[in-house]
Amino acid sequence: MSDTLDLGNGHTLQFLGWHPDRELNPQVAGVPDVDRYAAVIEHPAPSGGTCAGGVTFDSDVARFVEPHKQMWTVDSWEPLTLSPSVLCLRCGDHGFVRDGRWVVA
Ligand SMILES: [Zn+2]
Repeated sequence: MSDTLDLGNGHTLQFLGWHPDRELNPQVAGVPDVDRYAAVIEHPAPSGGTCAGGVTFDSDVARFVEPHKQMWTVDSWEPLTLSPSVLCLRCGDHGFVRDGRWVVA
């Protein structure tokens, strides 16, 4: 399974892992690595060019590391389905990731 998904509609999702340096971050010494911690979704901006927004997947580790951050529930990894919808705060791009595809909201 690739770490980058083509969601269609010009949207590409790249998974980001969480692999801290535990010597520099002893507060997470007992927290396990997460291969799919978050993702960047690249998409066309309405004004032209490419924009990108991020989502953090709800997990025990994410809630420990960033307890106040907004998170998305992974309803399915394969194909990828997230809830709720994803709104880009930079350009207003809004849609759902359902069954590995970008569905415009
Ligand atoms: Zn955007």
